[in-house]
Amino acid sequence: MTDQPTIGVLAVQGDVREHLRMLSESGAEAVRVRRPSELAQVDALVIPGGESTTMDKLVRAFDLHDAIRARLAAGMPAYGSCAGMIMLADRIADGRPDQQTLGGLDITVRRNAFGRQVDSFEDDIHWEGMEATLHAVFIRAPGVAPVGERARALARVEHGPAAGRIVAVRQGNVLATSFHPEVTGDPRVHRLFVEIVRTCQ
Ligand code: GLN
Repeated sequence: MTDQPTIGVLAVQGDVREHLRMLSESGAEAVRVRRPSELAQVDALVIPGGESTTMDKLVRAFDLHDAIRARLAAGMPAYGSCAGMIMLADRIADGRPDQQTLGGLDITVRRNAFGRQVDSFEDDIHWEGMEATLHAVFIRAPGVAPVGERARALARVEHGPAAGRIVAVRQGNVLATSFHPEVTGDPRVHRLFVEIVRTCQ
């Protein structure tokens, strides 16, 4: 893998621009992915925050569903934030009846898991292997429950009513967060992902 990997951001819906900027600042060549031919050009894929039911429909309409699944099955690294985490989950506890995911992470997600009263909140959390705490912004965020045997929890909510809930997971080259590091300007999660892409086999 080259030092500057090409990382695509799935650009059918959601906060695409923020991820493109964070990836560029983290040492990757960042490009939009809207069609299978664009997917074929990238070393890895980021799935942004947005609305997973809409993203699911558009991914299927743009003929990307099977193509992304095939790349994931072949070991392509992927990172999903918020709705992107839902897209990468093997199981959704409460999706729309026809909602499909791309899979890749042995987790069950629950959409909008933090409830109406606290549907958006912020917290300073510890991330395994990072020295300083990470400021995490949650916007109608999904919860992880439970994490399957193949995935590993990397961070949890630390304060407030949701303390202890898992909000970051990794399984091999696939990473996901319930929160949005692309909106806080802290590049550490994107840097970690770029590093995963650089060192992947
Ligand atoms: N609640 C949204 C969903 O179900 C995710 C919200 C987000 O990405 N900020 O897709």
